[in-house]
Amino acid sequence: MNVYAGPLSTLEIHLDAIARNYLLLKKKLKSGADCAAVVKADAYGLGAGPVSRALFDQGCRHFFVAHFGEAAVLRHALPEKDAIIYVLNGPWGAEAKAFIEGNFVPVLNSLDDLNYWSGVCKAGNKRHPALLHVDTGMSRLGLSAREATRLFSDKTALQALDIRYIMSHLACADEPKHPHNNAQLTLLRTLTKALPTPSRLSFANSAGIFLGPDYHFDLARPGCALYGIKPFNEGENPMQGTVTLKGRILQTRLIDISSTVGYGASYRVVPPANCATVSVGYADGYLRSLTGRGAVVIGEKKCPVIGRVSMDTIIVDTTTLSVQPRAGDWAEIIGPGQTVDEVAEQAGTIGYEILTSLGKRYQRSYTGA
Ligand SMILES: *Cc1c(COP(=O)(O)O)cnc(C)c1O
Repeated sequence: MNVYAGPLSTLEIHLDAIARNYLLLKKKLKSGADCAAVVKADAYGLGAGPVSRALFDQGCRHFFVAHFGEAAVLRHALPEKDAIIYVLNGPWGAEAKAFIEGNFVPVLNSLDDLNYWSGVCKAGNKRHPALLHVDTGMSRLGLSAREATRLFSDKTALQALDIRYIMSHLACADEPKHPHNNAQLTLLRTLTKALPTPSRLSFANSAGIFLGPDYHFDLARPGCALYGIKPFNEGENPMQGTVTLKGRILQTRLIDISSTVGYGASYRVVPPANCATVSVGYADGYLRSLTGRGAVVIGEKKCPVIGRVSMDTIIVDTTTLSVQPRAGDWAEIIGPGQTVDEVAEQAGTIGYEILTSLGKRYQRSYTGA
């Protein structure tokens, strides 16, 4: 086989692992609670179409995106009428008509959103579904506690609307012992107790599911855990990895005189050393902050990134490998030998950012569909 003919870097997305993660989260939920899937940002970089399809096949019917444009793309991937697509950033980004025609459910994040959507409903003489977001401690989106209290004390306020769920979002659920979790839970309960008619609630993200049944309510909204990111900061990761990311070794080199490696000549190799140049760089989402901190797996052993991360390549030190790799061999960046969370740790960020930064040059494939 001609080694030159194959792809330079590959991204395999394991839909069966995503499906198993979904089923595990669903099983954790108390009975009666439904499990949505957050597929915003192209399903955290993994491909909203194939990922949502796989989750739909597991029984998922609630899908959350952030932008109207993402909802429109998802509608093509999920033509079934019973797939409900919610838009987290609200009724922005398109005419109300487009929301209604696409049957998309906006999250109403402010009194302005609420008034706007009420107006749309009145004008069309139809109560179009929406979610209502109340802020309980994130100060990002949603009605303030004061606004919610006033609104819920007026028995007629929500009558013009078809509010499917009242939702709120946890700020610290990945830290199970953080007192903010219980404070948010208490506030959500207090606020919604004042509602004229009891509403269904949606509260838990991935980490929130692991805080226990008090946090589950009627609809959980996991994202990261579906994709294998560890949802909380303690113990073992109960989720399976969903991605195998590999780059090809383009060239190997025995360095036998004192030499510098990469841009800025910032790293000096002590000879003798073996190096390999791998076909992945910051343009592929291999973050430049991995300079001097990243590692790749070659032959089941970790090889450190040396020198600066370039746009299209990294250089790794393979000296400790008993069998030296050759040009054309693969280096694993994420996979069985190194989790996305480990790469994130090396880069000084979170797994979410690693996945949503994955570049466009990988030869993508979906397995386990
Ligand atoms: C992104 C997001 C989620 C999913 O959070 P994860 O931590 O990825 O599970 C849930 N709800 C809202 C409002 C979000 O913005």
